[in-house]
Amino acid sequence: MRHFPIFLDLADRRVLIAGTGAVAEAKLRLLLKTTARLELYAPEPEAALRELAEAQGVALHRRPLTAADLPGAALVYAAHGAAAPDAETAALARAAGVLVNVVDDLEASDFITPALVDRDPVTVAIGTEGTAPVLARAIKAEMEERLPQHLGTLAGAARGFRGAAEALPPGRARRDFWTDFHFRTGPLVLEREGEGGLDAALAALLARHLAAAPTPGRVDLVSAGPGDPDLLTLRARRLLDRADVVIHDRLVAPAILELARREATFVAVGKEGFGPSTAQSDINALMIDHARQGAHVVRLKGGDASIFGRLDEEIAALDGAGIDWAVTPGVTAASAAAAAIGASLTQRARNSDLRLMTAHDLKGYAEQDWRALARPGAVAAIYMGKRAARFVQGRMLMHGADPGTPVTLVENASLPAQRILASRLDRLPADLAQAAPTGPVLMLMGLAPRRAPVARPALIEEMA
Ligand code: SAH
Repeated sequence: MRHFPIFLDLADRRVLIAGTGAVAEAKLRLLLKTTARLELYAPEPEAALRELAEAQGVALHRRPLTAADLPGAALVYAAHGAAAPDAETAALARAAGVLVNVVDDLEASDFITPALVDRDPVTVAIGTEGTAPVLARAIKAEMEERLPQHLGTLAGAARGFRGAAEALPPGRARRDFWTDFHFRTGPLVLEREGEGGLDAALAALLARHLAAAPTPGRVDLVSAGPGDPDLLTLRARRLLDRADVVIHDRLVAPAILELARREATFVAVGKEGFGPSTAQSDINALMIDHARQGAHVVRLKGGDASIFGRLDEEIAALDGAGIDWAVTPGVTAASAAAAAIGASLTQRARNSDLRLMTAHDLKGYAEQDWRALARPGAVAAIYMGKRAARFVQGRMLMHGADPGTPVTLVENASLPAQRILASRLDRLPADLAQAAPTGPVLMLMGLAPRRAPVARPALIEEMA
């Protein structure tokens, strides 16, 4: 991120626009949305520009900007639409240490103006660092459609009530109050009574929330899927959006954590390959402590929470502590890996059962029903199998498996770093050693990629 978005307080600050014509007029119109003190420097302003400035009480100087004008200015816009005077303005501003924007010239500018969706005081700023104006316009159009016009009115009413709402304890209770106002009570009152009813509605709503019993804490055991945020369920997204505390496995991708409420407390736990791990009892204690303090805890687990995730142990601990919980299912690594190679996990006349197995258990390598697995057509998804390849191979061959049985390894399934390795039982340890995967790997025993490489779903076009 080369350009960092911020919201600058322009109340009563001087903003200087040097230039004429349509370029200066467009900037002036935009800046008139602010409460800044605007000054226009234009030796020969066109009639339209002059009239706009006069009508809006903008100070109009019929001369070029000079060094003497700059002290105390917050921002300068070079808006001549011509390189030479713009460069002169930019040089003056820089010499005075004032941030300058040269309209439509990213490289010559200290800051750039984003595309705006204006629901004052709610503002959405969209920037692409000048790379894709078409994209910025498309996003703006989508936001314009999606954000109701009344958004700003509600936010405006809320502004005056923030102090009163502090009667509610900070955190969940206060957030519930505001959620109720912005998404239920507020829109309803606006529709029925108009803006005039909002203040009374806020007071009544606060009284109701103050009288209500505090909501007890709870834990949602949420599946995060294999890594691609698109593969989260809608419910997982909603819960992340509300969480006070997110306790997540280290395997959970950063792009998914980004979706959680920014104010939430994040705690990384669990195993990282064979690296450091948090004891299960510590994870249980963390969930229970936070929930007892009234927090909404999201326990985020990679893939599907119910598969090799010690879900039962966490549920038992929560039950033992009398804490309310629910499970949100998700996409497991086996599903993502199968999708990546375009294969079906079951097939009529080939395999009517599917094993999800781990190569490790409490005692080390995990024993399985190898005879069944060695049968032609058998399919198994092997989790945590990277280090157990030779063991699995030995057991399979010992029980009569065909050495040519296809085995496909999918590393980082669904993530940008996804890699597919088509191997066979007899070559498995050698191929794996050569590929030297560093990310999580799912082994699909008995399945070959339909075609290699399999195209990833083309979802990008859908935005246009
Ligand atoms: N609950 C998870 C599995 C946890 S065990 C699920 O349902 O997917 C951890 C193992 O899952 C890893 O060792 C790896 O075998 C597999 N795994 C998880 N995410 C993966 C991914 N994106 N790509 C490949 N394998 C993955």
